[in-house]
Amino acid sequence: MIYLDNAATTKPSKVAIEKALVFNEEKFFNPSGLYQGGLFCANEIKKAKESILRNLGCVNNEVIFTSCGTESDNTAIFSVVKRGVFVTCKGEHSAVHKSFLELKNRGLKIEFIDLNEDGSVNVDKLLNFCFNNEVNFVSIMHVNNETGAINDINSIAKQIKSINSKIIFHSDGVQAYGKIPYKISNDIDLYSISAHKINGLKGVGALIKKKGLHLSPYIIGGGQENGLRSGTENVFGIKVFEYASAEHYNNLLENFNYVNSLKNEFINGLNKTNFAIISGENSSPYILTISAKGLRGEVVMHSLEEKGIIVGNGSACSSKNRFSRVIEACGYNENILDGVIRISFSAENTLDEIKNSVSIINETVENLKGILNK
Ligand code: PLP
Repeated sequence: MIYLDNAATTKPSKVAIEKALVFNEEKFFNPSGLYQGGLFCANEIKKAKESILRNLGCVNNEVIFTSCGTESDNTAIFSVVKRGVFVTCKGEHSAVHKSFLELKNRGLKIEFIDLNEDGSVNVDKLLNFCFNNEVNFVSIMHVNNETGAINDINSIAKQIKSINSKIIFHSDGVQAYGKIPYKISNDIDLYSISAHKINGLKGVGALIKKKGLHLSPYIIGGGQENGLRSGTENVFGIKVFEYASAEHYNNLLENFNYVNSLKNEFINGLNKTNFAIISGENSSPYILTISAKGLRGEVVMHSLEEKGIIVGNGSACSSKNRFSRVIEACGYNENILDGVIRISFSAENTLDEIKNSVSIINETVENLKGILNK
């Protein structure tokens, strides 16, 4: 199998799991326990938080561990501001997009800002809206999970704060963390990340929150995570997240350049008469979205699966919809929208895998077109 759907999830790191196994075996204690084992686990969670903050270059922030990126996004959106105007863009993952629709159901005013052709937010329109309205909360994703477009969130947050320093700025960093080089600035109030996108386990995420920002908890109970997210912490999953993050951050630039070379190899090998390339030139090297013009992406995806190549079609979370609402918002017509396929790489992919898969995808699409034109 050649696995090219790493934006959907990644293979958990064996090294990180083995290193963390101790927390499943002899150190299985509840981190809220007041005996030594409990205190030990609580301290290990603290170390995981410090390590994640170092990766992000944060000095004035705290980490709240959650069960996933979706929970981190929901916590940010529903727990910080409860009134006023909420602004996001048309490119967001459903974790943000549908939460905004729920805000609307609850009677709040929401606004979805247009995208550029590559899936990044139209910054002029965003700033213009914030300038002309009493905005309370802005959520703009860091790396778009469908096109790989990178939003310069530090610059966007800075400009928004200069319009009104009271606006709370959240960013969904699920596809950025551990993949592209950056530090988050003091203008970012809230930042969501998820473990399973970087070889951690499913079911672990974190919300990075600026110290001093008031958050009324979304999950209430035993008061874990400084009262901000109750529920006994998944110590094993958190430690795997910490160790998997370290593996990514120790090799961040090396992996970035390597994966970029894989992506370029893939793009160069594609038969351009049959494919349109949707990802922009400056997109994340980890994500390449293309369209098999005139075909259904889902059909191509299944044909590739039969040949042992796993790719995604649009967002894994919206596979029931005919078109991706995000790619549609980039301005493409039906012919392109139908054929969308997402190839997403990891540093574990080899050059041979990429050469093989691009030649198989060329051949598969050529054959499918032949059948269609008979
Ligand atoms: N945000 C983005 C940009 C994503 O790509 C994803 C997952 O695909 C999520 C949020 C949701 O993360 P999780 O699967 O950890 O809930």
